[in-house]
Amino acid sequence: MKRGYQLTKTADELVLEPQCENCAALCCVVFVFDKSESFAIDKAAGEVCPNLDTCGKCTIFRERETLGFRGCIAYDCHGAGQRVTQEVFGGRSWRDDPILMNRMGDALSVLRQIHEQLLLLGAAAKLPLDPDERLELSGLRQILAPETDWSEESLKAFPVARATRQVADFLSRLRRHVQLSG
Ligand code: SF4
Repeated sequence: MKRGYQLTKTADELVLEPQCENCAALCCVVFVFDKSESFAIDKAAGEVCPNLDTCGKCTIFRERETLGFRGCIAYDCHGAGQRVTQEVFGGRSWRDDPILMNRMGDALSVLRQIHEQLLLLGAAAKLPLDPDERLELSGLRQILAPETDWSEESLKAFPVARATRQVADFLSRLRRHVQLSG
């Protein structure tokens, strides 16, 4: 694990925004790019973006919009990238062992969805919820941010589709708060 990286201990400490300095540039390697308004090139999953330098820095970071990489600006891992790199893989990455590339991509895909749901619940927590709703919200957060650290295996086994449905169902029942406070 990288020196100085703050390991997440509780759901409240979760950082749901990117810390690219603690990540292995996963979004620049694991995804497919289709040449379009979003990306100026076609790129296969697992292929390193030609704009990524050997230190993990984007060599066109400030010119991405003008050079046709709007998709990179729009993408947000919600903090899943650094957690996959530092917590799930202990700081090791595809640079150390190319065989980790797809495994890190799989872990990122699940953890990003989990973080997305946590972001939604974070917004819901700001509503004037009644005690039962607050209890249900806390229960959902515990499912999405368990006390045990995420591993490759636990992410693979996590029923992310079901959890996403549970969160959507819960949020849909909060409409009354939004209308009242709107
Ligand atoms: S253009 Fe830059 S930010 Fe986008 S994938 Fe390539 S290296 Fe990453």
